[in-house]
Amino acid sequence: MTINGAPLIDGFNRSISYLRLSVTDRCDLRCTYCMPERMTFLPKSEVLSLEELYDLACGFMDRGITKIRLTGGEPLVRRDVISLINRLGAHIGGELDELTLTTNGTQLDQYAAALFDAGIRRVNISLDTLQPDTFAALTRRDRLTDVLRGIDAAQQAGLKVKLNTVALKGVNEFELPDIISWAHNRDCEVTLIETMPLGTVDEERSDRFLRLDTVADRLRTMWYLEPLTRKTGGPARYFRVAETGGVLGLISPLTNNFCAGCNRIRVTATGQLYPCLGGTQQVDLRAAVRSDKPAMALNAALDQAMRIKPERHHFAIGDGPTKPALTRHMSMTGG
Ligand code: SAM
Ligand code: SF4
Repeated sequence: MTINGAPLIDGFNRSISYLRLSVTDRCDLRCTYCMPERMTFLPKSEVLSLEELYDLACGFMDRGITKIRLTGGEPLVRRDVISLINRLGAHIGGELDELTLTTNGTQLDQYAAALFDAGIRRVNISLDTLQPDTFAALTRRDRLTDVLRGIDAAQQAGLKVKLNTVALKGVNEFELPDIISWAHNRDCEVTLIETMPLGTVDEERSDRFLRLDTVADRLRTMWYLEPLTRKTGGPARYFRVAETGGVLGLISPLTNNFCAGCNRIRVTATGQLYPCLGGTQQVDLRAAVRSDKPAMALNAALDQAMRIKPERHHFAIGDGPTKPALTRHMSMTGG
């Protein structure tokens, strides 16, 4: 499907060039801050086929998207996802500047070489702890060894690895310097993330919420954090840790609003476009791609998304587990 619309520019004159595309809501872990133990996943019939995901991505590329990050759920648990990645990878150097992936790393041992062959050069891997017991409790699965093997495999395959670590009070808060040192020692950047109130989970989120400015103050008692000026359009602030030489990112959606330079949109595995991670408005792209005139319908849907993309998110922590700021889980929109 080819659509020939104009580049995506929202009502605040932000140029949208970055798509996060979720390929599944399913996952082989059950991180306590992300989903409840008994998570209800979507019926497969609601999820876009790999063909539809590819068509959608092509529509976005026609409208000026130059960077796609595949996410989930866990993208690598989707059957045959490599065929989609290969097809998208063929656009790198053409419409696409970059294709990347956010993964929990459990399957990377198996897939790292194939990802590299498809043209992927960087992956984000989520790792919240290096302690096997903490990992098993936090993800409800005893898979730390698999993830560490996955990180090794990714680096051996030639992929640049960036780690994402959610900072959690009473869970990994005092382990964060070890994780940062470990990552920098292996030539990985690491980005710390504040937990966000997305979807109902089994614990009280505010009990686990840790402000990253508190974390940064603690780190500054050990290290010199030199601010870096990097314009990614993303939410992170970056620092070089003088003592390790590595890069540390901080994403603080709750204590530091990051929306002004936002260049991204998110699409769920069911084809719902969320113009803002922190908003409830959505546009149904599945209806568009399944309509009689998919190209025309998709163009119109993307125009609508640009009209409704809000200036900034408005979520705040503290509403408790029964009342999250937004009912959908991060595993739907993929972070
Ligand atoms: N399963 C893959 C993974 O874990 O990397 C990709 C999807 S996951 C939803 C993407 C990122 O969102 C992960 O780094 C995860 O730690 C983060 N995440 C999930 N729920 C979150 C929440 N409520 N607040 C902040 N980050 C969250
Ligand atoms: Fe799965 Fe990623 Fe959510 Fe953890 S954060 S449960 S790995 S989707």
